[in-house]
Amino acid sequence: KGPDGLYTVSLIEGDGIGPEISRSVIDIFAAAKAPIKWESVDVTPQLKNGRTVIPDTAIDSIKTNYIALKGPLATPIGKGHVSLNLTLRRTFNLFANVRPCKSIAGYKTPYDNVDTVLIRENTEGEYSGIEHVVVDGVVQSIKLITRAASERVLRFAFQYAEDVGKLKVRAVHKATIMKMSDGLFLNIARRVAKDFPKVEFDEELLDNTCLKIVTDPTPYNDKVLVMPNLYGDILSDMCAGLIGGLGLTPSGNIGDECSIFEAVHGSAPDIAGKGLANPTALLLSSIMMLQHMELFEYADKIQKATFDTLAEGKYLTGDLGGKAKTHEYAKAIIDKL
Ligand code: NAD
Repeated sequence: KGPDGLYTVSLIEGDGIGPEISRSVIDIFAAAKAPIKWESVDVTPQLKNGRTVIPDTAIDSIKTNYIALKGPLATPIGKGHVSLNLTLRRTFNLFANVRPCKSIAGYKTPYDNVDTVLIRENTEGEYSGIEHVVVDGVVQSIKLITRAASERVLRFAFQYAEDVGKLKVRAVHKATIMKMSDGLFLNIARRVAKDFPKVEFDEELLDNTCLKIVTDPTPYNDKVLVMPNLYGDILSDMCAGLIGGLGLTPSGNIGDECSIFEAVHGSAPDIAGKGLANPTALLLSSIMMLQHMELFEYADKIQKATFDTLAEGKYLTGDLGGKAKTHEYAKAIIDKL
């Protein structure tokens, strides 16, 4: 927080639709008089000693401000490119990915009462990036599970459950098959649970969770789900599908020091620059950011204006069946503020 009473937040606008949806967030925050000063940072990757790294200026900005809001970054497919998203997670040790999915009035989906929270381990597991060719035609990929990373994300999940008042934590796993790796994750979960007596703890097999949550999501509304990396990646997109897709789901990447809030969708190159993008996911991520900063008054205000605009249904973007341009939808929210 600066002497002007404003909190400086690093802003990574991102690629494709990133600048358009970031513009909406900036305008809406200004209209809400949120005490945020944006510091734009460029994260175009650089090669340093043969490794993909983020420019020092971007790292310094995020390290100084502790908080960043990030639009989608395009990842080129092919050899030699490390995903920038992965690089950011590693650089800032963003060990927990928090993905809430709440039904939005005004957008009809098969279920209208979804309110799930999923916490994904964000640094290891199947995404450790340890892969090699054993012999031609045989590739080995290593899933790494450590006590330290598991305990860190599990403690965070239990603490989060206490903080938001969803006093049940469920660990999702495949310890029946991956007896050692998921078994370790599960054993640590059981141990950490003992330190949080107010929170109920149970366990469920991933396939079972998938089946049950699409059959009836209601029993999951009072729980925080926590799981290793790959399971969380897939299951969180499935939960997003329950509430109407990636255009509506926010996320927070939480680290020891810094946190980066981002929409979960990609850069949508097919609609970039046309004013067709839905900024809701980035906006909801920025609301999560305000809550993380304990600026609840502004979070509530912007959230209400957003949900009211969606419920009214007069200014919806194309992905939600409407005809509004990105800036028209943002203007409708601003008018309510
Ligand atoms: P995508 O999410 O960009 O697009 C999938 C579909 O959803 C497209 O039809 C797109 O038009 C639509 N869509 C996505 N966001 C939307 C929004 N806000 N409003 C309206 N429609 C929206 O996924 P993709 O096409 O697989 O990926 C494109 C690029 O984004 C790739 O380079 C990929 O690596 C990158 N990506 C980045 C992130 C991230 O930065 N977190 C996440 C996923 C993908």
